[in-house]
Amino acid sequence: MRSGYVALIGPPNVGKSTLLNQILKEKISITAPRPQTTRNKVLGILTDPEVQIVLVDTPGIIKTHDEFNKILVDAALATLSEVDVICFLVDALKAYREDAGFVLQSLRGVTAPIILAINKTDLMHNKRELLPLINEYSQTMPFSAILPISALTGDGVNALVAQIKQLLPEGPRYFPEDHLTDQPERFLVAELIREKVFHLMRQEVPYAVAITVEQFSEKPEQNRIDIEATIHVERDSQKGIIIGKQGQTLREIGKQARGDIEALLGCHVFLGLFVRVQKNWRKDPRARSEFGYRQGR
Ligand code: GDP
Ligand code: MG
Repeated sequence: MRSGYVALIGPPNVGKSTLLNQILKEKISITAPRPQTTRNKVLGILTDPEVQIVLVDTPGIIKTHDEFNKILVDAALATLSEVDVICFLVDALKAYREDAGFVLQSLRGVTAPIILAINKTDLMHNKRELLPLINEYSQTMPFSAILPISALTGDGVNALVAQIKQLLPEGPRYFPEDHLTDQPERFLVAELIREKVFHLMRQEVPYAVAITVEQFSEKPEQNRIDIEATIHVERDSQKGIIIGKQGQTLREIGKQARGDIEALLGCHVFLGLFVRVQKNWRKDPRARSEFGYRQGR
């Protein structure tokens, strides 16, 4: 099983939404149910027996000189350092200099593998123009792959998905398949908690972590939702890291997650977090199903 986060980036109108729909068309699992304020917004999740691809949106990288926008660019780059793969879309009809030069320059510091997808190839009258374009791009920075696609017709999209799969690390299904459509909030909540764990334990393998949401009770009269969630890890040492000195790290995870969850759900949230060690849960089918993960379909 491979899984991970894939950022879909590119200038406005390059075809990101069209590509997303094309990718998710047949296997749609979830699209975010309401606007979110998280930095990496989950756009959709593709799940099949071998892979789970969580497609995320990131704030745009915009060329600018003023200080505020520079901060936005820095924020965008920071979110890009959290994903496993970056899929950068450019327009086949526009020369790269005007279109993508600035973004390419900004991406130089990012460590995740970058796939360059040259979109809207269906609009090219002369397909022979593609080769010089690919050459030009390949000289700007080392891409993991450069793929011509048409998000509209679907041409090349399977190859793109295959390439993404290859670049993803091994990992569990973050989002249990069968719960996706009926309880999207729970999974976004679990996702937000996982994101905070990930932030705060950069050195550790975040794939050893699973989040389950045991309780999700709405208290309309108090405009509050009470949530209880468990962070599952594989080793005692990981539990220690997540809890931190005198519970400091866990408190920080809870604080940050609660802020995001409140913004997501638009009400007050009580968040109880527990950490549980389940040795090698990723290898244990029983544990996986207990966590709502399934092997295969
Ligand atoms: P976004 O702003 O990056 O999300 O771009 P959209 O997905 O909204 O697409 C912008 C416009 O480009 C829309 O009119 C799409 O129909 C069109 N578009 C996107 N991908 C393609 C493509 O591969 N071929 C053609 N011909 N049009 C496309
Ligand atoms: Mg769009």
